[in-house]
Amino acid sequence: MADQAEPIDCEHTSEIVCPYCGHEESDSWEANGGDEGDFEHDCNNCGKRLFCSRHIEVTYSTETIEAVQARAEELRKLREAARG
Ligand SMILES: [Zn+2]
Repeated sequence: MADQAEPIDCEHTSEIVCPYCGHEESDSWEANGGDEGDFEHDCNNCGKRLFCSRHIEVTYSTETIEAVQARAEELRKLREAARG
């Protein structure tokens, strides 16, 4: 249908997207103090109150102890070399 409005993509977006008008907030992380969870938010474009759920993704990186120690040793040698 040509006259049908485009569905608004407002799930798992990187910014808060208004489900009424499709407006994308530019500083979404400031809403609700940056905490994870559910909160209400007023759209900066149409002013309507919307319900928002913030999902925070946590990622981890690991390294071997040996790799970290080798890097520290390398740094120490460089500093010693720089001192002369
Ligand atoms: Zn809106």
